[in-house]
Amino acid sequence: MVEFYLNNQKIRTAASPGSALLDLIRREQGLTGTKLVCKEGECAACAVLVGSLQDGRVKYQNMCSCIMPLANAQGRHIVTIEGINLSELTPVQQAIVDCHGSQCGFCTPGFVVSLSGALLTDHRPGYEQLLRAIDGNICRCTGYKSIERAVQRIAEELPKENYGLEMLIREGYLPSYFSTMPEKLQAINKPPEASQAGQFPVFLGGGTDLLVQAPEKVAHSPVQPVSELPALRGVREEGGRCIIGAATTATELEQSTVFQSVLNPDDGFFHLLSSSPIRNMSTVGGNLINASPIGDFTILFLALDSHIRLRGPAGERTLPLKEFYLDYKKMDRKPEEYLAAVEFEIPQKEVCFSFEKVSTRRNLDIASVNTAAAIAIDENNIIRTLHLSAGGVGPIPMYLHQTVSFLRGKELSEANLKKAVAVMQEEIAPISDARGTAEYKRMLLRQLVLAHFQKAAPEMEMIDILKLMK
Ligand SMILES: Cc1cc2nc3c(=O)[nH]c(=O)nc-3n(C[C@H](O)[C@H](O)[C@H](O)COP(=O)(O)OP(=O)(O)OC[C@H]3O[C@@H](n4cnc5c(N)ncnc54)[C@H](O)[C@@H]3O)c2cc1C
Repeated sequence: MVEFYLNNQKIRTAASPGSALLDLIRREQGLTGTKLVCKEGECAACAVLVGSLQDGRVKYQNMCSCIMPLANAQGRHIVTIEGINLSELTPVQQAIVDCHGSQCGFCTPGFVVSLSGALLTDHRPGYEQLLRAIDGNICRCTGYKSIERAVQRIAEELPKENYGLEMLIREGYLPSYFSTMPEKLQAINKPPEASQAGQFPVFLGGGTDLLVQAPEKVAHSPVQPVSELPALRGVREEGGRCIIGAATTATELEQSTVFQSVLNPDDGFFHLLSSSPIRNMSTVGGNLINASPIGDFTILFLALDSHIRLRGPAGERTLPLKEFYLDYKKMDRKPEEYLAAVEFEIPQKEVCFSFEKVSTRRNLDIASVNTAAAIAIDENNIIRTLHLSAGGVGPIPMYLHQTVSFLRGKELSEANLKKAVAVMQEEIAPISDARGTAEYKRMLLRQLVLAHFQKAAPEMEMIDILKLMK
């Protein structure tokens, strides 16, 4: 049984915990304001708000219900457009109408849900924050300018005094039942029942890979939401190491102060990673176990020289991430083992950490090639620390062992970089596919790796990429 609130109504359902939440919303509950369009989390026409009880308050995030497993609704408040509607248009809806932000109207409920969710913060959100909340919502009619104007108006009109839920209810942004939700969720906030004994469950992170790749299989399998396994969530520092629970979402990682000391938020890594609703759902563990050769977290953690903790009936074991991937989608992992955490030594101040990604579209796209590097160069211009990873250039996410051992301890010079590029070209084996030809990917990686070194040694004369390409 999965139990949660859908708008102001308590739901207790025996529907498959691995099925998509959207199916229940539209087919069982008949709430057809939430639209089914791509069924791949790409457009957010199916956006709902997901409220989780935290420290006595409900924290809301927008998510794509088309790929959200029902199990992940357990104990939460799910809000559809019907749960936002009042007898008159809310100021968000009115701004969209007045600024012509809706044409065919199919995407509009998703925009209204995402924008209304973005209002539910402690601090009055500004234009940029509101825009970011709709970075996963796609509209095929308006060309976005009219939606941007509506967002501008919402930002300007938001009351400045006493910002918070009470004010949003009073001013007609949200229905009054929102204030009763903490108490209601308190009464049902318990983990879902365990999967059937004797069967290995499908471990469920956010479902953003699983429900795109194999929705039928997941719907008909016993599932185990990883967020309900002990101590899998959260980011902490312990003795100079950063330890990240595998069920930590991309958004939680982005907001973690410990992780911000590793990866400067201004670097833009998270802006290149899917979209807000997907980041609110997708977990670090799902990215690593998905084993995609272009998984962004995987490439990031390889260059942080991370270790992973796997837990199973036989206990816990730790192994270097760079030894985990054996072949295309094959890992050193037994089916009954789950990923508990990923951890790494927090780089010293002198280490420059760099992540680069090129994709066909700048936003909301997975990489053609991605790469990360941790580089420290000493006062004698010697490369003292080096870890280098690359995605999209082989069957697995790669730690570039040979290139690293060639360069580590050598002087940072054009001549050495040129030789390293040659070693790297021998080490990788890209194939031509929809994301580019093999030759293109070789060229991309070469330039992105040189960009890492340019960042690590900005005082160095601009590396002559053209010369190195010969
Ligand atoms: C629209 C869209 C955009 C995307 N953009 C990007 C992008 O820019 N970059 C990128 O890298 N990826 C992207 N993805 C892919 C996906 O979001 C990520 O790979 C994400 O991190 C997967 O996490 P999840 O929790 O949703 O995984 P899930 O789908 O829940 O799980 C993925 C796999 O991992 C297993 N699993 C999950 N957690 C555990 C665990 N703790 N232990 C054992 N097994 C586990 C599951 O059984 C499954 O096999 C995108 C996906 C979508 C739909």
